[in-house]
Amino acid sequence: MQDVIEFEKFKPYTAKSIQDTEYWHKLTPELQEAINVVSRVMPFRTNQYVLSTLIDWNNVPNDPMFRLTFPHRDMLLEEEYESLHALIAAGDQVAIKRRVELIWRRMNPHPAGQLTHNAALLDGKPLAGVQHKYPETVLFFPGAGQTCHAYCTFCFRWAQFIGEEELKFNASEAEELVAYLRQYPEVTDVLITGGDPLIMNTRSLAGYIEPLLQLPQIKSIRIGTKSVAYWPQRFVTDKDADALLALFRQVVASGKNLAIMGHYSHPVELRPAIAKEAVRRITGTGATLRMQSPVIRHINEDPYAWRELWVEGVRLGAIPYYMFVERDTGPSHYFELPLAQAFQIFRTAYTGVSGLARTVRGPSMSTFYGKVVINGIEVVAGEKVFVLTFLQARNPDWVLRPFYARFDPQATWLDDLVPAFGQQHFFFEHDAEPAPRKTIALTLAV
Ligand code: SF4
Repeated sequence: MQDVIEFEKFKPYTAKSIQDTEYWHKLTPELQEAINVVSRVMPFRTNQYVLSTLIDWNNVPNDPMFRLTFPHRDMLLEEEYESLHALIAAGDQVAIKRRVELIWRRMNPHPAGQLTHNAALLDGKPLAGVQHKYPETVLFFPGAGQTCHAYCTFCFRWAQFIGEEELKFNASEAEELVAYLRQYPEVTDVLITGGDPLIMNTRSLAGYIEPLLQLPQIKSIRIGTKSVAYWPQRFVTDKDADALLALFRQVVASGKNLAIMGHYSHPVELRPAIAKEAVRRITGTGATLRMQSPVIRHINEDPYAWRELWVEGVRLGAIPYYMFVERDTGPSHYFELPLAQAFQIFRTAYTGVSGLARTVRGPSMSTFYGKVVINGIEVVAGEKVFVLTFLQARNPDWVLRPFYARFDPQATWLDDLVPAFGQQHFFFEHDAEPAPRKTIALTLAV
């Protein structure tokens, strides 16, 4: 564990530059090959802090932080891996590009209708980088925040990072966002997300946030970030860390709630002294820090890891918020867990923590229709079922109405479930347009 907090300059590594580090030589030839092949398809980026402090190199390749940031060959289907490997060996760049694009197509780059159904319209025209799915909350993707301090291998926003402009959504101007919000006075919350908005310097971030402070309708500003785990220096020793905290105080002083939505995947991320100091400094501004992450096979399917994360988070002043289900995009076949298993992980973790950590919700699926949480697995009227509810929904009337799906031990997503008790449809399917099939979303996206 790192006990002394020292200044450290941010230094990212790509699939190419990692080869010049001491860490490359700790990897077997098979692992090196997998990084070379899979990183053609999925984005790869890590940094000095992840390498030197978070990864336990005595436990590679099974170390959770290694799995979280380094590609594994099984993230591609066997046939995809073999064919791509052969093309790379032959050096055929055109064929490599074509093959990679085909793999992207299979991977459902924008799940849950993000490109097709959440688009915001300003004066009838689509507004780049703004999503409006639920009435009271708008998501904003600032153009300068569309990268991260390191990339997660399971990332559901992977399409943002692969350099294909037509697969991205990002905005450049805060003025358009403000104009949009004025047209929708029911919006009270803005979530600034990415990528990671805290990859931006404080001045750029302030350029997006300060205009929001002038809007009385906005009650809460949220910033989604993984920097609390991948680069806690952002809040402690970066040259504009103090300016960032001053910006947080400015938001709080304006009378708005500032919520930092911290993406923590594993308790290892909270163990270094600098990570704890980051929590202390964030909460010291009057902002709240919430903890959220998906439950991911190979990374955090251990309920006791979740317990440690939530208990330590609460001790430091953070608020456990969500355990998500891995989304149906990217290499989900490698990372996903059956819903039944995700529920058992959540339940085991939840029952071992005090009430202060039971602010957490989950396991929750961010589906086309809304956020669906698994409340239980029960036998009702002789049938084994999943008990489900919406925590958030496209139609507010659906929220907190229990519904039931036939138990399926293999199901990994809402799409895999069928209604219980012989029903033909779930109640929300009667008054909703059908969810976009993956193939439709792909046609539009690629
Ligand atoms: S920090 Fe978030 S957006 Fe960035 S790679 Fe990880 S999951 Fe994706």
